[in-house]
Amino acid sequence: MTRRRWIADSWDEATASLTGDQASHLIRVLRAQAGMEFDIVAGDRVWHGVIAGISGDSVRFNLIAEVEADPALPLMLLLSIFKFDRMEWAIEKATELGVERIVPVIARRSDKHLAQSAQNRVARWRRIAREAAQQSRRSDLPVIEDAIALKTAARREGEAVRLLLAEQERTRTLRRAVEEALAAAGDDLPAIRVAVGPEGGWVAEEEALFDSEGWKPVSLGPRILRAETAAITAMAVVAALLE
Ligand code: SAH
Repeated sequence: MTRRRWIADSWDEATASLTGDQASHLIRVLRAQAGMEFDIVAGDRVWHGVIAGISGDSVRFNLIAEVEADPALPLMLLLSIFKFDRMEWAIEKATELGVERIVPVIARRSDKHLAQSAQNRVARWRRIAREAAQQSRRSDLPVIEDAIALKTAARREGEAVRLLLAEQERTRTLRRAVEEALAAAGDDLPAIRVAVGPEGGWVAEEEALFDSEGWKPVSLGPRILRAETAAITAMAVVAALLE
């Protein structure tokens, strides 16, 4: 049976609670009552839970038995700052597709005003990811990091397979690169990092920096995609190959 799934705001070994928006939705729209059963995501574990009590704006569950969890894909998206409505779309869809972590980065061609207000958007991005995770019945939440400079982001992903989406790349496809990574990793799933540029694309120095840090340029085909389309397509290609 597929039970509706909630992501706990707080929990211990035996109980979990929802507060805020999720709780008010459950209380007012779904008319929560003691005894109703749901799946509850608590950290990286999922439980079969039963409502034990409702007080004011919070709902408390007893956790009955652990349900097998489906882990996120070992997949990180380095997402340049671009138009916020389109970024939100990318964050929502990447979450549905199983991304583990999203790092918003300020690229050279990220609009200056957007770059400045990016930090104020992070809370909203986290909320979007939480709602998308819940909707797609994920057992965990993707981590949405604070916005950081591209230089920092490019440098710290040492161990993983690092792929730079670049529309001018003609020979090496993302699909091919992931297939090679899978073959090289044997029985394990390789950790994959994918970087997507802003609307105007990467500048030459950024490409040189990625190159010197060991990122490999890859193509999604001969057509130039909008940044959010590129991000979502890349997540779908990697998910299809890893799953
Ligand atoms: N410079 C381009 C647009 C960049 S598209 C122009 O205006 O002509 C925005 C980002 O999407 C790029 O930086 C790249 O990361 C990604 N992207 C778009 N199309 C792609 C493709 N066919 N292959 C790989 N990456 C692509």
